[in-house]
Amino acid sequence: MTLNVFSCVSLLIYLSLVLLPLGISMTLNLPNRPWLDELSSSLAMIGFNIILIEFWLSGRVKLLSKVLGIDWVLQVHQLFARTALVFLLLHPFMYTLPSQPVWMTAASHQNFIGLTLTSGLTGMLSLIALIFLIGFAITRKNSEISYESWRLSHVILALVIAIIGFIHTMDAGRYAQEVWMRAYWQFMLGLAILSLAWTYLFKPLLQNKNAYEVVSIKEVSLKIWELVIKHSKAKKMKHQGGQFAWLKIASSSPLPENPFSIASCSNQNSYDISFLIKDVGDFTHQISQLQTGQQVFVDGSYGNFGAEAFSVKNDQLIMIAGGVGIAPMLSILRQIERDQDIALLHKKILLIYGNRVIEQAINLQEMVKIESFKNLEVIQLVSEPSKEWQGPTGVLNTPTLEGILRSQQINLETAQFLICGPAEMIDSVETSLDQLGAPLAHIASEKFQYDFGKMNPKNKRSVISALLGSATLIAAAIYAALH
Ligand SMILES: Cc1cc2nc3c(=O)[nH]c(=O)nc-3n(C[C@H](O)[C@H](O)[C@H](O)COP(=O)(O)OP(=O)(O)OC[C@H]3O[C@@H](n4cnc5c(N)ncnc54)[C@H](O)[C@@H]3O)c2cc1C
Repeated sequence: MTLNVFSCVSLLIYLSLVLLPLGISMTLNLPNRPWLDELSSSLAMIGFNIILIEFWLSGRVKLLSKVLGIDWVLQVHQLFARTALVFLLLHPFMYTLPSQPVWMTAASHQNFIGLTLTSGLTGMLSLIALIFLIGFAITRKNSEISYESWRLSHVILALVIAIIGFIHTMDAGRYAQEVWMRAYWQFMLGLAILSLAWTYLFKPLLQNKNAYEVVSIKEVSLKIWELVIKHSKAKKMKHQGGQFAWLKIASSSPLPENPFSIASCSNQNSYDISFLIKDVGDFTHQISQLQTGQQVFVDGSYGNFGAEAFSVKNDQLIMIAGGVGIAPMLSILRQIERDQDIALLHKKILLIYGNRVIEQAINLQEMVKIESFKNLEVIQLVSEPSKEWQGPTGVLNTPTLEGILRSQQINLETAQFLICGPAEMIDSVETSLDQLGAPLAHIASEKFQYDFGKMNPKNKRSVISALLGSATLIAAAIYAALH
């Protein structure tokens, strides 16, 4: 979520959607209440609307992830969830009117707040569930809980918050007593539940009828496996170089499924899709045990990482891959090579490929027709070199990057950077590029994890954007309360 024009416009559209219920409430022309009571209702409406929109921003809506990028979608999802929590936590403390224990008409809400025992309980329950959901999401990385258990708890808690929060809103909300407002909340809850049902119910059923099968599986470097699959009914999956897909093995049931960058590029003469998968845990270890012909289930394609590589706007493209982060770079290079676009084949491309030991590096010559590129330079870097290693050594820190970029005459201000690999490596490379003077808007990254990274310059900008966005929402709530 960097501050370039496109992400700013996207953020503005998002904020407008979040403010929709406030807009509807202002058209209802209900009698005035004390401004703090109005502010409280406004914050509650905004907070609950953020929660319902979160369902589309889980990273599982293909169109959104393609247009906005998975990074933007997930950062808005993660950062604005906190805004919703603050707004919803604050709102019960701001009411000044007394509570009326019996059900009232909308007009009578002018003198009382519509809090009954049931609506008090539903409000409290959904708030507690929200605190747990956000708390678990923030602390997941450092907890013992498996990713799959966490994801299941995330989905269940989200559903509980949406349904109980909806009951609370319909029961206690002053504006929710009005037809248009009721229709809005019903529509939004319906969409939220539909998006969950699509991912966890309908899609698995469809996947069962559209299974893929393993064409080959082989270890191409230390603990990195190349998995090649094809659709069992010879259907093609459309994808752009750099995108990723969700993979399931054994069964198409909703969990577990894991994301992997596609390493191949769609080809007229072949149905094969390939991945490079590093054996790091339970799921990835099972991948290495797959047999030819075995069924796997794929949901793709997602994200828009690397889209800049296919533009001739920037005359220098710098790809920085750490370990298995080479996978999306391969598909980008393969696509450029497939398309035979002269301008792209002549573009200055620098691929910096870092690994801990050389045994972890894949053989690029075997995977891409390097000779097709007229201006491609590959620099392999090893941080723990063997005695035989004669190439450059070190980690991808500022001095190393500066040395390489200067020696390759890279114009830091205009070059386009693509970075992929483990989150720690990306956080550090982004910081280095910022220190060296590369504009953050020219740096696109694919982190191999969904958690928010360290507070490097790029992430700081995302947090600042979210804070500015939240301030805009508060300003709108105050405006609505005073009018
Ligand atoms: C967009 C994207 C593209 C990726 N592309 C590749 C690739 O091309 N090659 C590759 O080797 N790895 C890739 N990864 C990382 C890969 O998804 C994880 O290494 C893998 O899911 C780990 O699963 P595990 O059960 O083997 O390991 P575990 O030890 O269970 O998990 C290790 C870590 O991986 C992450 N993870 C685990 N399960 C999931 C899940 N279901 N969804 C999201 N994250 C999960 C979590 O952060 C977890 O802490 C990618 C990740 C993302 C987000």
